[in-house]
Amino acid sequence: MRPYVSVVVPVYNEEDNLRPLFTRLTQVLDGLGRPYEIVFTNDGSVDRSDEILRALHAERPREVRVIEFNGNFGQHMAIIAAFEYVRGDIVVTLDADLQNPPEDIPRLIAKCEEGYDVVGGYRRDRQDTWFRRNASRLINLVRARITQIQMRDQGCMLRAYKRHIVDNIATSGEVSTFIPALAYSLATRPTEIEVEHAPRAAGQSKYRLYDLIRLNFDLMTGFSLVPLQVFTMLGFVVSLLSGILVLYLALQRIFVGPEVQGVFTLFGIMYFLVGLGIFGLGIIGEYVGRIYLEVRKRPRFVVREVLQRLDDD
Ligand code: UDP
Ligand code: MG
Repeated sequence: MRPYVSVVVPVYNEEDNLRPLFTRLTQVLDGLGRPYEIVFTNDGSVDRSDEILRALHAERPREVRVIEFNGNFGQHMAIIAAFEYVRGDIVVTLDADLQNPPEDIPRLIAKCEEGYDVVGGYRRDRQDTWFRRNASRLINLVRARITQIQMRDQGCMLRAYKRHIVDNIATSGEVSTFIPALAYSLATRPTEIEVEHAPRAAGQSKYRLYDLIRLNFDLMTGFSLVPLQVFTMLGFVVSLLSGILVLYLALQRIFVGPEVQGVFTLFGIMYFLVGLGIFGLGIIGEYVGRIYLEVRKRPRFVVREVLQRLDDD
């Protein structure tokens, strides 16, 4: 029987979380009384995750499918790969570390059944470090201003999508992307509900500061041209202001005489402008980099093996 719900879980070194997650997840999904599948993507784990996923598949071969990546391609690619395989009408994404309680899934599904095609979660009481929470708040604000995307909590990965949204994401072909934002831009009727959030059950966050910065650059440059346009405007304003300054200095020289002091002020202004110029170049570089990744046309991820039993259709 074709599953009604597909639950997608990206896994990167989650050996201590997989069993407890599986127990809670299957309990919730069994309670739905509809056929379901759980699609794990093993994103190049180097701990015992692979072994555990194989065991889970062996236990419930019809419900559990495992996509084995050939390396670490990142959480969003892991989810997109699973999107290529899912068969359910409603697709739910979930982290493997039990930060998103599986018990919230029925509420997400109910919202989908009401007719919404993208149901986002926003975390009621987010259990992450002070730095993460506040950095996210800031990024959420910037994103809300520079993109058309209206979301309360872009970082929350506990979400549900209707089938056609997932198919569109899977075929979108983008190299580095941000799934909640992409889904939102494809949605006709998005909504959001409050979900719980727990501290990571075991192991450590897989995102280092650098990864977080990268991810957010991808978000900004992948969904908006505003960073580039801001620099055009900034260049325009700075040229105007420095034009006025030059004029002022020239007039001063003619009518007041040569300037003796103020060299360091000028250096200050110079360094500031040089810094600004480099930053602007960097932003152009981000877009050039994206174009480069797209035209290179390398596979976004490499699947080594898929564990599944589909002979029940
Ligand atoms: N993850 C992944 N590949 C990666 C990094 C993370 O598949 O390269 C998975 C990870 O196993 C987890 C989810 O993505 O299921 C979220 O990761 P994490 O909990 O480390 O992120 P955080 O909650 O700190 O944002
Ligand atoms: Mg987490």
